[in-house]
Amino acid sequence: MVTSYLGLGSNLEDRHINIKSAVKKISELKETQAIKLSKIIETEPIGGPPGQRKFLNAVLKIRTNLSPATLLKELKKMEKSLGRKECVRFGPRVIDLDILFFGGKVINTKSLKVPHPRMFEREFVLRPLLEVI
Ligand code: AMP
Repeated sequence: MVTSYLGLGSNLEDRHINIKSAVKKISELKETQAIKLSKIIETEPIGGPPGQRKFLNAVLKIRTNLSPATLLKELKKMEKSLGRKECVRFGPRVIDLDILFFGGKVINTKSLKVPHPRMFEREFVLRPLLEVI
């Protein structure tokens, strides 16, 4: 099994329930175990349209036998089923699920970049990540 770290964010509707529902769905994925969830923190939105609400963010450590592409596909399905609509880049969203790390792999395809390219400049990712690493 590979250890992977997932970033979770929400700033629409019931943000807490959105994060918790995503964690539940991830832990129910086949061939996947949820290992540790960071504290859920409230953070200022960065980029995107002005005036959007603060985010709740967390990081979930998992172990999985899924491939990175399958994991991404499953996360996108979850975003949809939790009610995410197509949204403005960096704009408000019901849920955002990102693959931060996938083992020691470096992935650079059109649809998947790991380690997540913007995570190193984002305190809202790094702070919860440090808690579970
Ligand atoms: P976002 O708006 O942050 O949900 O980004 C959406 C797109 O980023 C997805 O359609 C993915 O194909 C792409 N993407 C690239 N790298 C990653 C990653 N490490 N984790 C999640 N999505 C990624």
